[in-house]
Amino acid sequence: MKLIDGKAASAALREMLKKEVENLEQAGITPGLAVILIGNDPAVRASANGKKRACTEMGLYFEEYPFPNSVRQQELVDLIQKLNKKPDIDGITVQAPLPNHINREVVLSAIAPEKDVDGGSFYHAGRLFCGVGKFTPCVAASVLELLDRNGIDVAGKECVVVGRSNAIGKPIALTLMQRNGTVTVCHSKTRNLKTICKRAEILVTAVGKAKFFGADHVKPGAVVIDVGMDRDEAGRICGDVDIAAISGAASVAAQAPEGIAPMAVTMLIKNTIQAAKR
Ligand code: NAP
Repeated sequence: MKLIDGKAASAALREMLKKEVENLEQAGITPGLAVILIGNDPAVRASANGKKRACTEMGLYFEEYPFPNSVRQQELVDLIQKLNKKPDIDGITVQAPLPNHINREVVLSAIAPEKDVDGGSFYHAGRLFCGVGKFTPCVAASVLELLDRNGIDVAGKECVVVGRSNAIGKPIALTLMQRNGTVTVCHSKTRNLKTICKRAEILVTAVGKAKFFGADHVKPGAVVIDVGMDRDEAGRICGDVDIAAISGAASVAAQAPEGIAPMAVTMLIKNTIQAAKR
């Protein structure tokens, strides 16, 4: 089984993007990204730090707006409306997951479409639904980028996506459909999950359950893209797939932390650069 190196692929793409940043710099433009983060969950903090690091390395301007878990939805909307008008900010992203009392779709839809670089608003979700995606959610864009970079054609393939969240599962399913995959979406109420997964030539897992998928879920020769970012019994980052268990069955696999996550940050940078070119 070949392991997809998302870190290396992401580094290669960043080299190309650096040239675009330099060109913009010569025109007096510095792309700017604002990250809003809520609560003090270490995983959320680490993810925001990763974005900050990437912006610094790539020459982007970066702002961070931390809030306690008790933040009111209106406070977030008010901030976003200010950032929408801030000229040095080209992209705005709200770090997931959000506390339960916050309506994700309402908050993300307050972001001006031209600054919604993670594509979470109704506007970009609608465009993706209609097959004319502009800012595709970064995790879904990363899945496609890594498939493309590894020469894996989606067209006509039996694709199974496990997970149907608005942030992750649905956008991945839509982008695979857009690439002419034959897509089945599974969720917590799906019956015969193993049987359905075992049909997949491309299996994408996004359920948030450590090492939930094993050899019983994988068709021999399948491509397995594990989007999950979970913790194992020892507290180490792992994915939804038991990678050791599937190594005899899958032909290619991507898994946390080297799989999707680094590319997702790079896609956010890419979209922020696009937004700055506007
Ligand atoms: P979520 O909102 O909790 O959604 C989980 C999905 O999995 C839901 O659709 C749920 O079904 C489904 N599910 C749960 N248990 C299942 C089961 N036993 N069988 C089949 N389906 C099941 O999570 P999310 O925000 O989409 O995130 C999913 C994973 O992606 C997490 O591990 C998260 O950490 C990871 N993630 C990774 C990145 C990255 O950069 N790699 C970025 C963001 C998130 P129902 O709809 O029926 O509840």
